[in-house]
Amino acid sequence: MSATASPTLDAYSYGSLVGGKWRTRGVDFTTRNPARPSERVGEYSLSSGADVRDAGAEASRAQPAWSALPSFERAKVVARFLDAVEARTEAIALAITREQGKPLGEARGEVGKSLRESRVMVSEAARVGTTSVGSARPGVRNLITRRARGVIAGITPWNFPILTPMRKIAPALVFGNAMILKPSEMTPGAACFIVDAGRGILPDGVLQLVNGGPDVGEALVRLPCVAGVTFTGSVPVGKRIYAMAAERLAEVSLELGGKNAAIVHDVAELDRALDHIAGAAFLCGGQRCTAVSRVLVQRSLAAAVIAGLTQRARAVVLGDGMNPATTLGPLVSAGHRERVGEMVTKAIAEGARAVVGAKNASVADTDGFFYEPTILVDVPPRGIAAREEIFGPVISILVYDTLDEALELLNDVDYGLTAALFSNDHRAIERFVDQAQTGMLHINHGTIPDDHMPFGGIKNSGVGAPSVGASAANFYTTEHAVYLGT
Ligand code: NAD
Repeated sequence: MSATASPTLDAYSYGSLVGGKWRTRGVDFTTRNPARPSERVGEYSLSSGADVRDAGAEASRAQPAWSALPSFERAKVVARFLDAVEARTEAIALAITREQGKPLGEARGEVGKSLRESRVMVSEAARVGTTSVGSARPGVRNLITRRARGVIAGITPWNFPILTPMRKIAPALVFGNAMILKPSEMTPGAACFIVDAGRGILPDGVLQLVNGGPDVGEALVRLPCVAGVTFTGSVPVGKRIYAMAAERLAEVSLELGGKNAAIVHDVAELDRALDHIAGAAFLCGGQRCTAVSRVLVQRSLAAAVIAGLTQRARAVVLGDGMNPATTLGPLVSAGHRERVGEMVTKAIAEGARAVVGAKNASVADTDGFFYEPTILVDVPPRGIAAREEIFGPVISILVYDTLDEALELLNDVDYGLTAALFSNDHRAIERFVDQAQTGMLHINHGTIPDDHMPFGGIKNSGVGAPSVGASAANFYTTEHAVYLGT
């Protein structure tokens, strides 16, 4: 089977990339376009136990020489790899839209963002190394040095098919690790294109890929050579991976779900705030861990916020992501649409009211998995729509009277990924910065993160070092204390 990456609408085939060579054994699973489910997109063979073990052996063989390269040399090789990924932008963006469903413009934007973040990590290669600190004994020099952790397993979800893999690959490689990636079985195309771009640039074994679902993921986490596991996905799977890694005391970095809120409090430019909120809620069909899915609004602003968000939900153009007019694609699968629908139905049974949406949408000429953008009001604070991650184009609106109440609602969830406050009241801003229980805090803009800032959550949203920016080194390297006597 070939492993081509031309920007065409042909189906493509991939298996496991082990030691620089693709291994395929027929078609074990296929992906389909969620906007047009009859359209086959990718054909994949499942990685066997032997493929996973061989990838571990190849990574263990290749990693020492890779980490022994001077960091500037390694950074240059990674920069060439990123150029090769960039050259495939269109093929990767098409794979994302056709397997995941997001509009092609969003998919291109995802490729661009992943490259910008990765290039920030390349520049980190110059900064991370050995530092000299004061000594406690005469004639002894104290140094603190960092080394590559070793072989890293990366496991990624379906919603950002290039951004999440690249957030793991770039820091792993820059700091001298070997990476074995297992992308989501629902959207593996983009990840296959990326690792294929690295062939002939990166030493064989430094970047490998295995394909499959939970069984392949577990086999990878259990490989004795894996020193660190970086996982992005759901809370239950994150807990399971944490437990498996704990058996071998392997380090983890877990990026999990969110139930992110925007607070609208004494804000002067309401329209601008609502544009940010609607963007953060509906981008990628709401299937973003950082999507705004709750809006907490001061009672005096509630009517205007409900009307403004309803108008924005009605203005969304649902459709196939290949159509340039589309602003909201389908949900990723029939099963996921069913789950979103069931959660909304349960929320309504609990007392919430849908102002708009709350049903599957039909789009002319397609039988895709479309769901209408939905605004829920009168949402009970202890109900499903206030507390659980729905992962669809659904906004739950909750009304409060005092800032105390707003902060209590904000923090009364198990998650702690990101939050936004729209306000011109400096006391509200100060309290939000000090008291919002989230890893990322946005004031007067939506929840879209920058390319160089730490990305991660607290509570059930994450464990371990953030994945973007300088502090990612805390996961991808180990720290050593050196006492240099004379
Ligand atoms: P998921 O947890 O079902 O799957 C994620 C990955 O884990 C997939 O590759 C899957 O094959 C693999 N996997 C599943 N079971 C496994 C097991 N037992 N052992 C090893 N690997 C296993 O998540 P999903 O449905 O693909 O993605 C949606 C979830 O991801 C949402 O909860 C979302 O919030 C979260 N997410 C979080 C972030 C973040 O950075 N915090 C980013 C994107 C998505």
